[in-house]
Amino acid sequence: MPNHLWMNEDHTAFADTVSRFFAEEITPNKDAWTQAGTIPKSLWKKAGDMGILGATFPEEHGGLGLSRHFDAVTFLEQTKAGDSGWGVSVHNIAAHYITAFGTEEQKARWLPDLASGDKVAAIAMTEPGTGSDLQAVKTTAIKDGNEYLINGSKTFITNGGSADLIVLVAKTDPKAKGRGVSLIIVETEGLEGFSVGRRLKKMGMKRNDTAELSFEDVRVPLTNLLGTEEGQGFYQLMKQLPWERLILGFMALGASQCALDLTLDYVKERKAFGQRIMDFQNTRFKLAEAKTKIELLAAFCDQCLAELEEGKLTAEKAAMVKWWGTQTQCEVIDECLQLFGGYGYMSEYPISELYTDARVQKIYGGTNEIMKEVIARSMDVD
Ligand SMILES: Cc1cc2nc3c(=O)[nH]c(=O)nc-3n(C[C@H](O)[C@H](O)[C@H](O)COP(=O)(O)OP(=O)(O)OC[C@H]3O[C@@H](n4cnc5c(N)ncnc54)[C@H](O)[C@@H]3O)c2cc1C
Repeated sequence: MPNHLWMNEDHTAFADTVSRFFAEEITPNKDAWTQAGTIPKSLWKKAGDMGILGATFPEEHGGLGLSRHFDAVTFLEQTKAGDSGWGVSVHNIAAHYITAFGTEEQKARWLPDLASGDKVAAIAMTEPGTGSDLQAVKTTAIKDGNEYLINGSKTFITNGGSADLIVLVAKTDPKAKGRGVSLIIVETEGLEGFSVGRRLKKMGMKRNDTAELSFEDVRVPLTNLLGTEEGQGFYQLMKQLPWERLILGFMALGASQCALDLTLDYVKERKAFGQRIMDFQNTRFKLAEAKTKIELLAAFCDQCLAELEEGKLTAEKAAMVKWWGTQTQCEVIDECLQLFGGYGYMSEYPISELYTDARVQKIYGGTNEIMKEVIARSMDVD
């Protein structure tokens, strides 16, 4: 287990609470929720009551006002427990758009319910026709009197089927490119013209509620524009994406550690040719490589977290931790699964779920190819 130098007694106590939450509330229910393809809403309330959801939200808006280290603890504990199906990271990311760019009135209106788990949040950027190229979104939010009239559709939206509040990426000025993009908060309860389409079936992350969303002449008040000025959406996204990408780095770290722990237990028990699988030099080298990669990833995540807290985490460094972290996760889990032999391919062995869950990490949050573009662009300036 890597040693995070920033972890003090408060972080350790919080980690114990979060770890207990996963052990008691999620681990025993994994199979049932995997079958259902979603996680019950009651779980959010339990997490809210324990301070997990609002740990880093401002105290005056229902949070605990703690540093992002506490969120890092949550995402590490979630993935170390072998879960990535519960969309708590997306809930957190969506809420942090409000903490970062919301007016005081907007924060007071939305954050307390997100901290308590009374409401679940999603962020809807991707559309059937565009994912990587966000400037090409077609969903529109056009001013009409005191309201925005919203039309369009979104896909692959995490928490989409259960979200009460959606941070929607839409064009308020369809003729402009990036400058025409705004973030609109959509509250879904009883909302006319809003519908949730198919719950999408996936190769992994099967407990994760991933859905299509449709907006047909949906009306929301103008006060649901995040912030005060239209056309700021692209800027707001660029400002928040480093946090989203660092979260994926921490989740890659926790999942890799989980895979290594499971594998160590297995190779010490399983025998072939009269000896433990652990005793083959190949196994020892693979485990040594995995442990080294995990230590490196931990050090990189911790450095990025320190820079984020100082407001200095650059887009390119966040892109590095996202692509390298998730690539490392996929490599480590693949090598670990190999050491299980055929059992690693069986669904009842958690390593197989870690393997299928890991694959999407290289795709969402900006694909790893886009991450390399971001890094290359930072070197290709005059
Ligand atoms: C399980 C899951 C959950 C998700 N959750 C959310 C969510 O909550 N909210 C949300 O908004 N979205 C979500 N997404 C969508 C995800 O962010 C997109 O799938 C991702 O951004 C890629 O977009 P795309 O699928 O349209 O691929 P495309 O953009 O069509 O890309 C296809 C391929 O082309 C490559 N490519 C594209 N442009 C370039 C380029 N300039 N240079 C080099 N290669 C390029 C890509 O890297 C990729 O390999 C989720 C996706 C999944 C699978």
